[in-house]
Amino acid sequence: MIADYTFKLIVIGPAAVGKTSLIRRFVENRFSFNYKSTIGVDFLAKTMRLKGDKIVKLAIWDVGGQARFRFLRRNFYEGTHGAILVFDLSRANTSPKMKDWLIDMRSIIEYKIPLLILGNKSDLLSEVGEVIDREEPKRFAEQEESFYLETSAKTGNNVEQAFNEFTKQMLKSNS
Ligand code: GDP
Ligand code: MG
Repeated sequence: MIADYTFKLIVIGPAAVGKTSLIRRFVENRFSFNYKSTIGVDFLAKTMRLKGDKIVKLAIWDVGGQARFRFLRRNFYEGTHGAILVFDLSRANTSPKMKDWLIDMRSIIEYKIPLLILGNKSDLLSEVGEVIDREEPKRFAEQEESFYLETSAKTGNNVEQAFNEFTKQMLKSNS
C-alpha cells in the first residue's frame, strides 16, 4: 500500500502511564504487564485506510528516556503532525503534570498541531475508584482546544477509536 499521507505522531506524558502499552495495543493488538521502560526512541508504524479510501501511514514515536535530555527532545518533537498526551486514571499525581509536558512541547514546536488527551487505565477505575475529578481533564482539553478520551490499553477499550479519530483530525489540519 502506498500512503497518500505520512504523519508523524508523538505519544508523550509521565512515566508508566501506559504510552508504550497504548501504541502496542493499537499497532499489534496485544498487551503485556512488562514492557521495559522505553530507552532511547521507540518507534512503530501503522498504515491505515480511512473512509473515502485515503491511505495514511502513521509513524508513531514513543517518548522514553530521552525525555530527560532537552537536546534529544528537540529531535523527538521535530516534524510532528500531532501529539497524544497521556495520563494515568489510577494515579492522581499524573494529570497535574500534563501542563508541563505541553509547555515543554510548545517551546520546541512553534506551529499549532492537533492534540489528543487520553486518561489511560480506565479498567482500574472499578478497582481503585475515582482518584481525580474526571471533569478536570475534560475542561483542560477544552482549554487546549483538544479532545479527551478514556482508554484501557489492557482491555483495548477506546484505543482503536482514539487513534482513528485522531488520524482524521491530523488529516483535516494537514490537507
Ligand atoms: P509508559 O512508561 O508510559 O510507556 O508505560 P507502559 O506502557 O510501560 O506501562 C506501565 C505499566 O502500566 C505496565 O506495567 C503496563 O502493563 C501497565 N499498563 C499500561 N496500560 C494499562 C492499562 O490500560 N491498564 C492497566 N491495568 N495497566 C496498564
Ligand atoms: Mg514506555
